[in-house]
Amino acid sequence: MKVKIDADLCTACGLCTDSVPQVFKMGKDVAEVIAADVPANIEGAVKDAASDCPAEAILFS
Ligand code: SF4
Repeated sequence: MKVKIDADLCTACGLCTDSVPQVFKMGKDVAEVIAADVPANIEGAVKDAASDCPAEAILFS
């Protein structure tokens, strides 16, 4: 599974970086993906973060 963040949508709320710090970290203005190829054991957590993101900025495929 691959994941990315739409920087135009992210409001830097910090939800994803708190919930899955293995994949997301807070950058200067918006959250950033540090592991675009998501390890299988945390795919569920990334999907949950995507559903919980208030800006719907987390996209995965
Ligand atoms: S949860 Fe969404 S809006 Fe919040 S920091 Fe992560 S990508 Fe940005």
